[in-house]
Amino acid sequence: MKSMSSNPKDKIKLVTINGNLMPLKDAKVSITAPGLSYAALVFEGIRAYWNEEHKQLYIFRLEEHLYRFINSMKLLKFIDYPNISSIKADILQNIQANNYKEDIYIRLQGYIDEWGEMAVRTPVSTSIVSYPRPRAIAFTEGKKFTVSSWQRLDDNASPPRIKASANYLNSRLASIQAKESGYDGGIMLGANGKVSEGPGGCIFLIRNGNLITPSITSGILESITRDSILEIAETLKLNFETRDVDRTELYIADEIFYCGTGQEIMPILSVDKMLAGDGMRGKITKMLQNEFTEIVRGNNPNFKNWISSTYNK
Ligand code: PMP
Repeated sequence: MKSMSSNPKDKIKLVTINGNLMPLKDAKVSITAPGLSYAALVFEGIRAYWNEEHKQLYIFRLEEHLYRFINSMKLLKFIDYPNISSIKADILQNIQANNYKEDIYIRLQGYIDEWGEMAVRTPVSTSIVSYPRPRAIAFTEGKKFTVSSWQRLDDNASPPRIKASANYLNSRLASIQAKESGYDGGIMLGANGKVSEGPGGCIFLIRNGNLITPSITSGILESITRDSILEIAETLKLNFETRDVDRTELYIADEIFYCGTGQEIMPILSVDKMLAGDGMRGKITKMLQNEFTEIVRGNNPNFKNWISSTYNK
């Protein structure tokens, strides 16, 4: 019998609802809340990294996550939601109360609470759940992807720019289909047939030393990791292009990787069994991973503005 559960839920201690800390078992939402019945819910997934030498937990690009969170609420026409500084204070309070000294993941949600019809705009409640989350094994080992037969959402239908739980129906279908077919994940194409993104992350490929990723108007979430990688590429003097990407480019790329807060930078070793390069983690992917790791852990002074401290010294 296993003595320790590997379910992250078992590691959750104190959670926050509307600024109030409580044990997970006491954090309840009504079954009548439009956040549940009409998926009137937006969220952010944020990582914070422990630096043992600095004895500090650094939140990665918190400002950018909060800015996107507010934009998601704006686009879904929520009203009377808390401002950035009060959400930030709640996140810090949650982390400090849990007193983490390891890498964590923070899930922030904003949803229409209580009761109401489909288009109701208030009251907005917020919740924060945080838990230890080490780097995935696939960061080094990589994953095998397929091109999904599910089409990516469109800006004129259910805008992927909004980080709304409703959009994850599309991601769920692509993800389950890929797994049932024996792959780790599915890359979706947009209505124009061009590469869009994966169920929970953006796609980069490398061809002849050029870093290529679909543009932010290709039905993707405006990923903070994607943006970080483009900035890092610039400082490393790598050539990069943000443009339409054809499906067949995935099959002849030298390297491919998946990126997002959860995945960080995760090698994609093959797409539809066509190997990316030699089917191993590529050189440029590794270089970006190393640079990214130093930055998120607070070891690169040039990127100090991307990290926020959580504990007072
Ligand atoms: N696309 C989708 C659909 C996602 O769910 C995520 C994860 N948040 C991303 C891209 C990556 O975004 P970020 O780098 O901001 O986490």
